[in-house]
Amino acid sequence: MAYEINKNGKLEYFTSPNLNKFDEIFHCFTTRLGGISQGPYESLNLGLGTDDDLQNVMQNYHILAQSIGIEDGDFVTSFQTHTNNIRIVSSIDKGKGITIKRDYRDVDGLITNEKKIALVTTHADCVPLFFYDPKNGVVGVAHSGWKGTLYEIAREMIYKFTYNFKSNAGDIIVSIGPSLCQSCFEVDEDVRDLFLNENQEYKKFMYSIGEKSYIDLWSINEYMLIKCGVKKDNIENMNICTKCNTEKFFSHRGQKGKRGTMAAVIMLNAY
Ligand SMILES: [Zn+2]
Repeated sequence: MAYEINKNGKLEYFTSPNLNKFDEIFHCFTTRLGGISQGPYESLNLGLGTDDDLQNVMQNYHILAQSIGIEDGDFVTSFQTHTNNIRIVSSIDKGKGITIKRDYRDVDGLITNEKKIALVTTHADCVPLFFYDPKNGVVGVAHSGWKGTLYEIAREMIYKFTYNFKSNAGDIIVSIGPSLCQSCFEVDEDVRDLFLNENQEYKKFMYSIGEKSYIDLWSINEYMLIKCGVKKDNIENMNICTKCNTEKFFSHRGQKGKRGTMAAVIMLNAY
């Protein structure tokens, strides 16, 4: 099995076995189950930019915090605009997006080597990438939708690990979280051509039926990571599609845009 479901109180979330081996970190990818939001946001909507009542979203973050044994002010959230920008997070950022305002925007990835800071990116079909360097004690998380993949946020993250934290790419453990599978990521030729213009090799990760093309973002991210020096054995794809499993996940495509958002969370534990 490529993944497992942890039940902690009433919350269900997915974790990755390759990261679960390390007791010194916590990570999870939430499902839509266990929160208080209603309608298309039912129920654990963690999207700060959705039309859901913000109080409900904050209560959902509180439920998540309680369930994983942290405070609301331990979260630090991204401000996602489909860039490849990554913020180096420190303790002064604690609570940003949840208990205090964010003083940044256009941040699609977060990285830190400080303990008890729960880095959060949000997703509803876009690829979540979890990163951990056990040698240097550094964690990161990225929002790599099709634009983030095209702009190579995975490569940017490995660059930050190696340049800012002296990591070796070969030590970094990566997990690819729930998001669109290849057959659910249908695009027109404009998007297909953007990928092919970026790298002809990407042809290996797509097929076409008539006018439509289908791109495997999981494999493109994996390919990019391996090119950066990450070991193939250190990359795990949870292999779960959000659109194929709408009972468990919000899906932008599956719910035609009106949907809540899940969270990818990673943290160095306090002990
Ligand atoms: Zn699918």
